[in-house]
Amino acid sequence: MEKILISSCFLGNKVRYDGKAKALVHPQISTWQQQGRLVVVCPEVAGGLSVPRAKAEQQAGKVINNLGQDVSAEFQHGADLALQLCQRYNIRYALLKEYSPSCGSHEIYDGNFNDTKIKGQGVTAKLLTANNVEVYSELNIAQLIVKITHPNNAEQV
Ligand code: SF4
Repeated sequence: MEKILISSCFLGNKVRYDGKAKALVHPQISTWQQQGRLVVVCPEVAGGLSVPRAKAEQQAGKVINNLGQDVSAEFQHGADLALQLCQRYNIRYALLKEYSPSCGSHEIYDGNFNDTKIKGQGVTAKLLTANNVEVYSELNIAQLIVKITHPNNAEQV
């Protein structure tokens, strides 16, 4: 059965920097959960950061929080652990939170902490993509559903 790596905050877990969740309410998520497909990760917590934690954004190849601290190592460690999960469970698809400096797959914040978004990938999304894991977000979950349920994938499901 095709497993899917999923952002922990999507499942209602309060792991975000602000101590809150970002639940993704979708019937397919419940179905996948019941089927045992979901492998849950919060890369930032896995990487050693606390809840809550200072807001962080990518700046010139590093991840800096709004206290001016370089948290690149924690972000990279979390990304490495997420990739290890994918390798352990032969995961080819991930559903990760858009705009996150870890999980964003198409857009992230620009590093100035003024809510400006730019094209780019979070640290984890980038590493997974480079290792042939397709990363989807709440914005294109419909495409992931097709991937998982399309008849052409039937032999892998
Ligand atoms: Fe959610 Fe990813 Fe941020 Fe963790 S790192 S809170 S899983 S968006």
